Amino acid sequence: MTVPPGSVIGIIGGGQLGRMLSVAAAQLGYRCHILDPHEHPPAADVAAHFTRAAYDDADALEAFGRAVDVATYEFENLPVAPLRALGEKLRPGTRSLAVAQDRAVEKQFIEECGGRVASWRAVDSLDDVRGAVAELGVPLVLKTRRYGYDGKGQAWIRAHSETQTAWVAIGEEPAVAESGVRFSAEFSVIVARWADGRHAFWDSPENQHRDGILRRSTVPCGELVAGQLAEARKAAIGIAEALGHVGVLTVEFFASGDGPVVNEIAPRVHNSGHWTIEGAVTSQFEQHIRAICDLPPGSTELVGEGAVMDNLIGDDVDRWPALVAEPDLHVHIYGKGEGRSGRKMGHVTRVR
Ligand code: AMP
Repeated sequence: MTVPPGSVIGIIGGGQLGRMLSVAAAQLGYRCHILDPHEHPPAADVAAHFTRAAYDDADALEAFGRAVDVATYEFENLPVAPLRALGEKLRPGTRSLAVAQDRAVEKQFIEECGGRVASWRAVDSLDDVRGAVAELGVPLVLKTRRYGYDGKGQAWIRAHSETQTAWVAIGEEPAVAESGVRFSAEFSVIVARWADGRHAFWDSPENQHRDGILRRSTVPCGELVAGQLAEARKAAIGIAEALGHVGVLTVEFFASGDGPVVNEIAPRVHNSGHWTIEGAVTSQFEQHIRAICDLPPGSTELVGEGAVMDNLIGDDVDRWPALVAEPDLHVHIYGKGEGRSGRKMGHVTRVR
């Protein structure tokens, strides 16, 4: 069912991803309606409508569902049950969310789809963690099953003596214990899928993280990653098909000696795809709108030879006078006000 320009697109979550989706949607003639619990979410500045409501407010979601022609979400830490009120209007559907928001469910799902993941165990107690350390050895990383992002809710165990400290550090919550992967590079596969199975990949960026946060994405990737792309793309589209996913899906990988290892799935546009705004013919944001509104796919070709995207984290954004003075630099500032340490405040992209 095509949702024509002029229609209203609901976006659950009003962060920078919702903001960039709204800008892309507006260019195609859509109006966006943001639902977010915060007072001034960044997306509300650029969208036609804003409802301030909790994500589990059933009445607000029902009214939101009536007010929009199609709905999507910009992050995965949402309670699934209340979203069922949106029915068929929600794209991607709740299955993509339910799988991606629980690391144990996600890993099992990836394995069932034939993807490779690090050796892992679900852990619910300190005894479980001790058992995982005994079976898998160290280094091991504990990650809470839910509500982790940008390296939060994670603690490394590099020696047996660190077991208890790590368990306390993640808040003694249900978690997965996962073997440390020896990788040469990190990269992501970003794919947009339509309801009828059509799909399009962008060039895969090579991603550099610091303190668990993405700092830089570079396309094209190096030779080592390029050698693993065919297998990684096959895994990513297999996951998208099995989810019945509609819209953009991102799969993050480690390039290991054994081949690509899936780290995690994001059922949405992704920070490692921000370079597509200026570096590709069609950005991930526009393509997501095209897919959920059932417009034809845009080209995902590079416009030049490549692109480098750097995140502006915390007070990096204070460098804006120097950044905007570089005439070839594409500067994006998310309008979040004060830069708190570790917060993504903006990004810059250089296209070559
Ligand atoms: P995540 O929040 O799961 O994306 O993890 C954040 C970052 O921590 C990743 O991008 C990696 O740099 C690192 N990391 C996470 N899990 C592992 C692992 N099993 N082995 C090695 N590095 C990891």
